[in-house]
Amino acid sequence: MTHADNGGKPREACGVFAVFAPDKPVAHLTYLGIYALQHRGQESAGIAASDGEHLTVVKDMGLVSNVFDDRTLVALDGDLAIGHTRYSTTGSSMWKNSQPVFRDVGHTQFALAHNGNLVNTAELARDAGVLPGAMSSDTDAMAEWISRAIGEHGSDPEGALPAALSEVLPRFDGAFSLVVMDRSRIIGVRDPHGFRPLCLGRLDGGWVLASETPALDTVGAHFVREIEPGEMVVIDGAGVRSSRPFADDRVDPRLCLFEFVYFARPDSELYGRNVHQARVRMGEHLAHQAPVEADLVMGVPESGIPAAEGYARTSGTPFGHGLVKNRYIGRTFIAPSQEMRSLGVRMKLNPLKENIAGRRLVVVDDSIVRGTTTRKMVEMLRESGAAEIHMRISSPPYRWPCFYGMDTGSRSELLAADMEISEIRDYLGVDTLSYLPLDALVEAVGAPGAGFCTACLTGEYPVPIPPEAGKGVLEGGRTSAPEPQSLFQGAMFDSTAGVMPSEEAARDSR
Ligand code: 5GP
Ligand code: SF4
Ligand code: MG
Repeated sequence: MTHADNGGKPREACGVFAVFAPDKPVAHLTYLGIYALQHRGQESAGIAASDGEHLTVVKDMGLVSNVFDDRTLVALDGDLAIGHTRYSTTGSSMWKNSQPVFRDVGHTQFALAHNGNLVNTAELARDAGVLPGAMSSDTDAMAEWISRAIGEHGSDPEGALPAALSEVLPRFDGAFSLVVMDRSRIIGVRDPHGFRPLCLGRLDGGWVLASETPALDTVGAHFVREIEPGEMVVIDGAGVRSSRPFADDRVDPRLCLFEFVYFARPDSELYGRNVHQARVRMGEHLAHQAPVEADLVMGVPESGIPAAEGYARTSGTPFGHGLVKNRYIGRTFIAPSQEMRSLGVRMKLNPLKENIAGRRLVVVDDSIVRGTTTRKMVEMLRESGAAEIHMRISSPPYRWPCFYGMDTGSRSELLAADMEISEIRDYLGVDTLSYLPLDALVEAVGAPGAGFCTACLTGEYPVPIPPEAGKGVLEGGRTSAPEPQSLFQGAMFDSTAGVMPSEEAARDSR
């Protein structure tokens, strides 16, 4: 979603889920589905359900388990449902931006949930005649355009939504994996680049759409296939019908490479590849490329651990744990004072002194974005007596802001934007620093010929960023330390921090 108050800076990489299954408790299934996708967003959660006559939406700020209980779910049950978990970092975290969004137009009611970020929200708002600032998000803009198309052509309530979607989808630019529903069908859409994942599953007596495959496992559905970039599927009592609303020359698969590096669950399958195994291979490549004499290889929990395993196995250096993560810390934790704020990282990660003191450490993490968490973590390892710290990162330097659904800040906040590797090494206070080159990363993913977005690493944006969206975001570059208060923001930046205990357990049991 793009917010009017932040110059079009992207914030979201949400989780979406949909189920069509008459005779099943669809709201409960959707609850389980979005619970399995909680890592994709912890800010708000919502479910829309239909019993064929009425479409009802329940949504609120907070984690899935805070928003729903048995009573709300029973009241929501019906034949079909969609669900959403929303991710956002600092700033406009408010109820009106929670999803699914709902619209009632003539005889048609529909609900929409979105993962990704449009880059032409301002243009869509302008062309729809909406006053600047009146549209709070890109998802609102989509709902507005769909509503208008239904209003113009929608005399037949049965076919109105799919027809309206086919007509307006080509107007949307950027990243959008959507689940949409009316009273009797669910619809899945992936933009022509397929930046964000979306897959189809078969349930005994129904069908499921989900951002990631573990959500299918959770509800007992079998993976059928990924929705293809540029594809729309309509699912109702007659089965699954596929169509291609976008011009052929716009279809160019560019799955977000960071789904493999950081964002997706390790037990996800993307492009037919298991994400955990891909991360282990990234670590193996790092060990070949940047070997060093050391006593212990450790990962930064949780995201750095699979690559650390791979590094350790290939290098022959023992794998161990140097940091303990508090599993129960929520990312919405509000620090009462500046003094408390500087303790932020410490609340999340605490060193295991016995494993660190006097040791030469290889410390592996998936990425460095602002560098604030990493720097604080290095400081903690030094205080605990680490003899040497060799930092290894399983992706290339993160140099460009993402406009397709990850909030990684503006260019001026990105540590690697304008710094040499040696400057980053000195800033972080490590003995050596090495990043995995792009070709090695792609090879580690192991999906030859598959297309990826790499814009944040290369500056090559598959969908051009209009000046109004890029203004103030693409400019500048970090050449020095950030102001002290952002140490805390860095700590809260790791969205894995809000993962619920049982999900964390699932991650641990890989
Ligand atoms: P930093 O040192 O840049 O403050 O924090 C780096 C940590 O942020 C890494 O451990 C990485 O796992 C985590 N992280 C949290 N959210 C994101 C995100 O949206 N993208 C990426 N690439 N890393 C993230
Ligand atoms: Fe993913 Fe980076 Fe592309 Fe954003 S810019 S979609 S984070 S690869
Ligand atoms: Mg991390």
